Amino acid sequence: MSNKSPQAFADACRVLVGGVNSPVRSFASVGGTPPFIASGQGAYLTDIDGRRYLDYVGSYGAAILGHAHPEIVATLREVASNGLSFGAPTLAETELAEIICSALPAVEQVRLVSSGTEACLSAVRLARAYTERPAIVKFSGCYHGHGDMFLVAAGSGATGIATSRGVTKSVSTDTYVVPYNDVAAVEQLFAKSGQRIAALIVEPIVGNCGFIRPAPGFLAFLRDICKTAGSLLIFDEVMTGFRVAWGGVQTIVDIAPDLTTLGKVIGGGLPLAALAGRAEIMELLAPKGEAYQAGTMSGNPLAVACGIKTLEILARDKVYQRLNEQTARLCAGLHDLTVSSVHPMTADREGGMFGFFFSRVAITNA
Ligand code: PLP
Repeated sequence: MSNKSPQAFADACRVLVGGVNSPVRSFASVGGTPPFIASGQGAYLTDIDGRRYLDYVGSYGAAILGHAHPEIVATLREVASNGLSFGAPTLAETELAEIICSALPAVEQVRLVSSGTEACLSAVRLARAYTERPAIVKFSGCYHGHGDMFLVAAGSGATGIATSRGVTKSVSTDTYVVPYNDVAAVEQLFAKSGQRIAALIVEPIVGNCGFIRPAPGFLAFLRDICKTAGSLLIFDEVMTGFRVAWGGVQTIVDIAPDLTTLGKVIGGGLPLAALAGRAEIMELLAPKGEAYQAGTMSGNPLAVACGIKTLEILARDKVYQRLNEQTARLCAGLHDLTVSSVHPMTADREGGMFGFFFSRVAITNA
Protein backbone atom coordinates (compact mmCIF):
# COMPACT_ATOMS: atom_id res chain seq x y z
CA MET A 1 0.00 0.00 0.00
CA SER A 2 1.32 3.47 -0.86
CA ASN A 3 1.94 6.07 1.82
CA LYS A 4 1.06 9.37 0.18
CA SER A 5 -0.47 11.14 3.17
CA PRO A 6 2.84 12.31 4.75
CA GLN A 7 3.89 13.93 1.44
CA ALA A 8 0.42 15.41 1.01
CA PHE A 9 0.74 16.89 4.50
CA ALA A 10 4.19 18.33 3.72
CA ASP A 11 2.79 19.89 0.52
CA ALA A 12 -0.18 21.29 2.44
CA CYS A 13 2.10 22.76 5.11
CA ARG A 14 3.77 24.95 2.50
CA VAL A 15 0.56 26.75 1.58
CA LEU A 16 -1.93 26.07 4.38
CA VAL A 17 -1.09 27.16 7.91
CA GLY A 18 -0.07 24.01 9.76
CA GLY A 19 -1.25 22.02 6.74
CA VAL A 20 -4.90 22.23 7.73
CA ASN A 21 -7.88 24.56 7.86
CA SER A 22 -8.87 23.73 11.44
CA PRO A 23 -6.24 22.99 14.12
CA VAL A 24 -7.46 19.62 15.46
CA ARG A 25 -7.06 18.04 12.01
CA SER A 26 -3.28 18.47 12.16
CA PHE A 27 -2.85 15.62 14.70
CA ALA A 28 -0.47 17.98 16.57
CA SER A 29 -1.64 16.79 19.98
CA VAL A 30 -1.69 13.07 19.14
CA GLY A 31 1.36 12.78 16.90
CA GLY A 32 1.81 11.46 13.38
CA THR A 33 0.48 12.98 10.19
CA PRO A 34 -3.22 13.09 9.38
CA PRO A 35 -4.61 10.75 6.72
CA PHE A 36 -5.82 12.69 3.69
CA ILE A 37 -9.32 11.59 2.86
CA ALA A 38 -10.29 10.65 -0.68
CA SER A 39 -13.89 9.59 -0.06
CA GLY A 40 -16.50 8.55 2.45
CA GLN A 41 -19.26 5.97 2.13
CA GLY A 42 -21.64 5.15 4.97
CA ALA A 43 -19.63 4.53 8.15
CA TYR A 44 -16.28 4.33 6.33
CA LEU A 45 -13.63 6.73 5.07
CA THR A 46 -10.98 5.89 2.49
CA ASP A 47 -7.71 7.82 2.42
CA ILE A 48 -5.56 8.68 -0.60
CA ASP A 49 -3.56 5.49 -0.01
CA GLY A 50 -6.66 3.33 -0.21
CA ARG A 51 -6.76 2.60 3.53
CA ARG A 52 -10.25 2.17 4.93
CA TYR A 53 -11.29 3.55 8.31
CA LEU A 54 -14.36 3.02 10.43
CA ASP A 55 -15.23 6.68 11.03
CA TYR A 56 -15.95 7.44 14.68
CA VAL A 57 -15.42 11.18 14.09
CA GLY A 58 -18.33 11.63 11.69
CA SER A 59 -17.19 15.12 10.69
CA TYR A 60 -17.36 16.05 14.40
CA GLY A 61 -21.06 15.27 14.50
CA ALA A 62 -22.35 16.54 11.17
CA ALA A 63 -22.30 13.17 9.41
CA ILE A 64 -25.04 11.60 11.52
CA LEU A 65 -26.39 9.64 8.54
CA GLY A 66 -22.95 8.46 7.46
CA HIS A 67 -21.18 9.63 4.32
CA ALA A 68 -22.72 10.10 0.88
CA HIS A 69 -26.20 9.01 1.95
CA PRO A 70 -27.95 8.33 -1.39
CA GLU A 71 -31.01 10.47 -0.60
CA ILE A 72 -28.83 13.42 0.42
CA VAL A 73 -26.67 13.10 -2.69
CA ALA A 74 -29.78 12.97 -4.91
CA THR A 75 -31.24 16.04 -3.20
CA LEU A 76 -28.03 18.02 -3.64
CA ARG A 77 -27.77 17.10 -7.33
CA GLU A 78 -31.31 18.31 -7.91
CA VAL A 79 -30.91 21.56 -5.94
CA ALA A 80 -27.50 22.36 -7.46
CA SER A 81 -28.90 22.21 -10.96
CA ASN A 82 -31.08 25.22 -10.05
CA GLY A 83 -28.26 27.45 -8.81
CA LEU A 84 -25.99 27.61 -5.80
CA SER A 85 -26.41 30.96 -4.10
CA PHE A 86 -28.76 33.86 -4.73
CA GLY A 87 -28.37 36.46 -2.00
CA ALA A 88 -32.16 36.50 -1.90
CA PRO A 89 -34.71 34.53 0.15
CA THR A 90 -35.88 31.03 -0.83
CA LEU A 91 -38.90 28.97 0.27
CA ALA A 92 -36.67 26.25 1.69
CA GLU A 93 -35.31 28.57 4.41
CA THR A 94 -38.83 28.99 5.82
CA GLU A 95 -39.33 25.23 5.65
CA LEU A 96 -36.15 24.51 7.63
CA ALA A 97 -37.01 27.18 10.22
CA GLU A 98 -40.49 25.64 10.60
CA ILE A 99 -38.99 22.20 11.26
CA ILE A 100 -36.67 23.68 13.91
CA CYS A 101 -39.52 25.62 15.56
CA SER A 102 -41.74 22.55 15.68
CA ALA A 103 -38.97 20.35 17.13
CA LEU A 104 -37.90 22.80 19.86
CA PRO A 105 -40.81 24.15 21.92
CA ALA A 106 -38.67 27.05 23.25
CA VAL A 107 -37.98 28.30 19.74
CA GLU A 108 -40.27 30.74 17.96
CA GLN A 109 -37.85 32.33 15.50
CA VAL A 110 -34.67 31.28 13.77
CA ARG A 111 -31.70 32.97 12.08
CA LEU A 112 -29.73 30.67 9.80
CA VAL A 113 -25.97 31.17 9.70
CA SER A 114 -23.02 29.17 8.38
CA SER A 115 -21.06 27.91 11.41
CA GLY A 116 -21.53 27.10 15.07
CA THR A 117 -19.04 29.84 15.91
CA GLU A 118 -21.16 32.39 14.09
CA ALA A 119 -24.31 31.16 15.84
CA CYS A 120 -22.78 31.38 19.32
CA LEU A 121 -21.13 34.76 18.97
CA SER A 122 -24.29 36.19 17.41
CA ALA A 123 -26.33 34.75 20.31
CA VAL A 124 -24.06 36.56 22.76
CA ARG A 125 -24.37 39.84 20.86
CA LEU A 126 -28.13 39.43 20.90
CA ALA A 127 -28.15 38.68 24.63
CA ARG A 128 -26.05 41.78 25.27
CA ALA A 129 -28.43 43.85 23.17
CA TYR A 130 -31.48 42.45 24.96
CA THR A 131 -30.19 42.83 28.51
CA GLU A 132 -27.96 45.85 27.95
CA ARG A 133 -25.34 44.12 30.08
CA PRO A 134 -21.73 43.35 29.14
CA ALA A 135 -20.68 40.03 30.68
CA ILE A 136 -21.20 36.36 29.90
CA VAL A 137 -20.68 33.16 31.85
CA LYS A 138 -19.26 29.99 30.35
CA PHE A 139 -18.12 26.69 31.82
CA SER A 140 -14.58 25.38 31.63
CA GLY A 141 -14.37 22.49 29.18
CA CYS A 142 -17.31 23.76 27.12
CA TYR A 143 -16.49 25.00 23.62
CA HIS A 144 -18.63 27.49 21.77
CA GLY A 145 -16.49 28.19 18.72
CA HIS A 146 -13.63 30.63 18.31
CA GLY A 147 -15.38 33.93 19.04
CA ASP A 148 -13.06 36.17 21.11
CA MET A 149 -15.39 36.05 24.11
CA PHE A 150 -15.15 32.25 24.31
CA LEU A 151 -11.36 31.93 24.14
CA VAL A 152 -11.10 32.57 27.83
CA ALA A 153 -10.18 30.43 30.85
CA ALA A 154 -10.84 30.98 34.54
CA GLY A 155 -8.42 33.54 35.95
CA SER A 156 -7.21 33.87 39.51
CA GLY A 157 -9.70 36.68 40.22
CA ALA A 158 -13.36 36.82 39.26
CA THR A 159 -12.91 37.29 35.52
CA GLY A 160 -11.26 35.27 32.80
CA ILE A 161 -7.92 35.32 31.04
CA ALA A 162 -7.51 34.96 27.29
CA THR A 163 -6.44 31.53 26.03
CA SER A 164 -5.46 32.87 22.61
CA ARG A 165 -3.17 35.64 21.54
CA GLY A 166 -5.13 38.39 19.87
CA VAL A 167 -7.97 38.35 22.42
CA THR A 168 -7.86 41.64 24.26
CA LYS A 169 -8.12 42.04 28.01
CA SER A 170 -11.22 44.16 27.60
CA VAL A 171 -12.93 41.15 25.99
CA SER A 172 -11.65 38.47 28.36
CA THR A 173 -12.62 40.40 31.48
CA ASP A 174 -16.24 40.25 30.37
CA THR A 175 -16.23 36.44 30.35
CA TYR A 176 -16.62 34.61 33.65
CA VAL A 177 -15.55 30.96 33.62
CA VAL A 178 -16.84 28.48 36.20
CA PRO A 179 -16.63 24.68 36.58
CA TYR A 180 -19.47 22.67 35.00
CA ASN A 181 -21.93 21.08 37.45
CA ASP A 182 -20.73 23.42 40.24
CA VAL A 183 -23.87 24.97 41.74
CA ALA A 184 -22.00 26.82 44.48
CA ALA A 185 -19.61 28.50 42.01
CA VAL A 186 -22.51 29.69 39.84
CA GLU A 187 -24.44 30.95 42.89
CA GLN A 188 -21.40 32.85 44.16
CA LEU A 189 -20.80 34.45 40.78
CA PHE A 190 -24.40 35.57 40.34
CA ALA A 191 -24.54 36.88 43.92
CA LYS A 192 -21.51 39.06 43.23
CA SER A 193 -21.89 39.99 39.56
CA GLY A 194 -25.42 39.01 38.48
CA GLN A 195 -26.27 42.57 37.45
CA ARG A 196 -23.45 42.49 34.85
CA ILE A 197 -24.38 39.14 33.34
CA ALA A 198 -26.10 39.26 29.95
CA ALA A 199 -26.09 35.50 29.40
CA LEU A 200 -24.93 32.15 30.59
CA ILE A 201 -23.98 29.81 27.76
CA VAL A 202 -23.73 26.06 28.32
CA GLU A 203 -23.38 22.80 26.43
CA PRO A 204 -26.35 21.09 28.11
CA ILE A 205 -24.52 17.78 27.74
CA VAL A 206 -20.82 18.52 27.39
CA GLY A 207 -19.17 16.98 24.36
CA ASN A 208 -16.03 19.05 24.13
CA CYS A 209 -14.07 17.52 27.01
CA GLY A 210 -15.44 14.02 26.75
CA PHE A 211 -19.08 13.16 27.36
CA ILE A 212 -20.25 14.80 30.59
CA ARG A 213 -23.85 14.83 31.78
CA PRO A 214 -25.41 17.62 33.76
CA ALA A 215 -25.97 16.52 37.36
CA PRO A 216 -29.67 15.94 38.15
CA GLY A 217 -31.30 19.36 38.54
CA PHE A 218 -28.26 21.32 37.28
CA LEU A 219 -29.89 22.63 34.09
CA ALA A 220 -33.09 23.52 35.98
CA PHE A 221 -30.93 25.38 38.49
CA LEU A 222 -29.28 27.34 35.65
CA ARG A 223 -32.72 28.13 34.23
CA ASP A 224 -33.88 29.49 37.61
CA ILE A 225 -30.81 31.53 38.48
CA CYS A 226 -30.72 33.20 35.03
CA LYS A 227 -34.40 34.05 35.27
CA THR A 228 -33.98 35.55 38.74
CA ALA A 229 -30.95 37.60 37.68
CA GLY A 230 -32.54 38.80 34.41
CA SER A 231 -29.79 37.06 32.42
CA LEU A 232 -30.48 34.96 29.32
CA LEU A 233 -29.86 31.22 29.31
CA ILE A 234 -28.26 30.01 26.07
CA PHE A 235 -28.17 26.28 25.35
CA ASP A 236 -25.37 25.62 22.88
CA GLU A 237 -26.83 22.58 21.14
CA VAL A 238 -24.43 22.83 18.18
CA MET A 239 -23.24 19.33 19.04
CA THR A 240 -26.27 17.88 20.86
CA GLY A 241 -29.02 19.30 18.61
CA PHE A 242 -30.86 16.52 16.73
CA ARG A 243 -28.08 14.16 17.82
CA VAL A 244 -29.06 13.13 21.35
CA ALA A 245 -32.75 13.15 20.41
CA TRP A 246 -35.18 14.78 17.99
CA GLY A 247 -34.75 18.41 19.07
CA GLY A 248 -31.95 18.33 21.61
CA VAL A 249 -31.13 18.06 25.30
CA GLN A 250 -33.82 20.67 25.99
CA THR A 251 -36.52 18.35 24.67
CA ILE A 252 -35.25 15.49 26.86
CA VAL A 253 -35.08 17.51 30.08
CA ASP A 254 -38.03 19.78 29.19
CA ILE A 255 -36.24 23.03 30.00
CA ALA A 256 -36.73 26.13 27.88
CA PRO A 257 -33.57 28.17 27.28
CA ASP A 258 -34.02 31.75 26.07
CA LEU A 259 -31.74 31.16 23.09
CA THR A 260 -30.46 28.01 21.41
CA THR A 261 -27.60 27.54 19.00
CA LEU A 262 -27.57 24.69 16.51
CA GLY A 263 -25.10 23.47 13.90
CA LYS A 264 -23.50 20.24 12.67
CA VAL A 265 -26.50 17.85 12.23
CA ILE A 266 -28.88 20.56 10.97
CA GLY A 267 -26.60 21.03 7.96
CA GLY A 268 -26.08 17.30 7.47
CA GLY A 269 -22.51 17.89 6.25
CA LEU A 270 -22.76 21.32 4.63
CA PRO A 271 -21.97 24.63 6.37
CA LEU A 272 -25.17 25.49 8.19
CA ALA A 273 -25.94 26.56 11.75
CA ALA A 274 -28.61 28.60 13.52
CA LEU A 275 -29.41 30.75 16.46
CA ALA A 276 -32.97 30.53 17.63
CA GLY A 277 -35.23 31.45 20.49
CA ARG A 278 -38.14 33.45 21.78
CA ALA A 279 -39.47 35.93 19.21
CA GLU A 280 -39.34 38.79 21.70
CA ILE A 281 -35.55 38.38 21.89
CA MET A 282 -34.87 37.28 18.30
CA GLU A 283 -36.65 40.34 16.93
CA LEU A 284 -33.84 42.52 18.21
CA LEU A 285 -31.77 41.16 15.30
CA ALA A 286 -31.44 43.25 12.13
CA PRO A 287 -33.45 43.99 10.05
CA LYS A 288 -36.22 44.07 12.71
CA GLY A 289 -33.98 45.29 15.51
CA GLU A 290 -30.76 47.08 16.17
CA ALA A 291 -28.43 44.13 16.84
CA TYR A 292 -26.58 43.67 13.55
CA GLN A 293 -26.02 40.23 12.09
CA ALA A 294 -25.73 39.21 8.41
CA GLY A 295 -24.12 36.73 6.01
CA THR A 296 -23.66 36.29 2.25
CA MET A 297 -23.90 32.51 2.67
CA SER A 298 -26.60 32.50 5.38
CA GLY A 299 -29.42 30.15 4.37
CA ASN A 300 -27.45 28.91 1.36
CA PRO A 301 -29.79 26.80 -0.83
CA LEU A 302 -27.56 23.70 -0.93
CA ALA A 303 -26.90 23.74 2.82
CA VAL A 304 -30.58 24.29 3.61
CA ALA A 305 -31.70 21.47 1.29
CA CYS A 306 -29.13 19.15 2.86
CA GLY A 307 -30.39 20.13 6.33
CA ILE A 308 -34.05 19.59 5.49
CA LYS A 309 -33.38 16.18 3.94
CA THR A 310 -31.20 15.13 6.89
CA LEU A 311 -33.90 16.10 9.38
CA GLU A 312 -36.57 14.42 7.27
CA ILE A 313 -34.62 11.15 7.43
CA LEU A 314 -33.95 11.54 11.17
CA ALA A 315 -37.68 12.07 11.80
CA ARG A 316 -38.49 8.64 10.42
CA ASP A 317 -39.71 5.84 12.61
CA LYS A 318 -37.27 4.55 15.25
CA VAL A 319 -34.15 6.37 14.00
CA TYR A 320 -33.26 7.69 17.46
CA GLN A 321 -34.22 4.38 19.06
CA ARG A 322 -31.71 2.70 16.77
CA LEU A 323 -29.03 5.31 17.51
CA ASN A 324 -29.61 4.80 21.24
CA GLU A 325 -29.36 1.03 20.89
CA GLN A 326 -26.12 1.29 18.95
CA THR A 327 -24.36 3.67 21.35
CA ALA A 328 -25.65 1.59 24.30
CA ARG A 329 -24.10 -1.51 22.75
CA LEU A 330 -20.85 0.35 22.08
CA CYS A 331 -20.64 1.65 25.65
CA ALA A 332 -21.48 -1.79 27.08
CA GLY A 333 -18.65 -3.23 24.97
CA LEU A 334 -16.23 -0.56 26.20
CA HIS A 335 -17.26 -1.33 29.76
CA ASP A 336 -16.74 -5.07 29.24
CA LEU A 337 -13.25 -4.35 27.92
CA THR A 338 -12.30 -2.64 31.17
CA VAL A 339 -13.30 -5.68 33.21
CA SER A 340 -10.41 -7.62 31.70
CA SER A 341 -8.04 -4.64 31.53
CA VAL A 342 -5.83 -2.86 34.04
CA HIS A 343 -7.38 0.43 32.94
CA PRO A 344 -10.69 1.20 34.60
CA MET A 345 -13.09 2.96 32.23
CA THR A 346 -16.49 4.60 32.42
CA ALA A 347 -18.54 5.16 29.28
CA ASP A 348 -21.78 7.04 28.80
CA ARG A 349 -24.06 7.94 25.92
CA GLU A 350 -27.23 9.71 24.80
CA GLY A 351 -28.71 9.21 21.35
CA GLY A 352 -25.86 9.43 18.85
CA MET A 353 -23.32 10.87 21.31
CA PHE A 354 -20.98 8.83 23.46
CA GLY A 355 -17.72 9.17 25.34
CA PHE A 356 -15.47 7.42 27.81
CA PHE A 357 -12.95 8.23 30.50
CA PHE A 358 -10.19 6.16 32.03
CA SER A 359 -11.69 6.47 35.46
CA ARG A 360 -13.53 4.25 37.92
CA VAL A 361 -16.01 6.98 38.82
CA ALA A 362 -18.24 9.14 36.63
CA ILE A 363 -16.55 12.40 35.60
CA THR A 364 -18.57 15.54 36.31
CA ASN A 365 -16.47 18.41 34.94
CA ALA A 366 -13.32 19.34 33.05
N1 PLP B 1 -20.49 24.84 19.93
C1 PLP B 1 -20.21 23.55 20.16
C2 PLP B 1 -20.87 22.83 21.28
C3 PLP B 1 -19.32 22.86 19.32
O1 PLP B 1 -19.02 21.58 19.56
C4 PLP B 1 -18.73 23.57 18.24
C5 PLP B 1 -17.77 22.90 17.34
O2 PLP B 1 -17.29 21.83 17.58
C6 PLP B 1 -19.06 24.92 18.05
C7 PLP B 1 -19.95 25.52 18.90
C8 PLP B 1 -18.46 25.70 16.92
O3 PLP B 1 -18.99 25.25 15.72
P1 PLP B 1 -18.17 25.47 14.34
O4 PLP B 1 -16.98 24.59 14.40
O5 PLP B 1 -19.18 25.08 13.30
O6 PLP B 1 -17.82 26.92 14.26
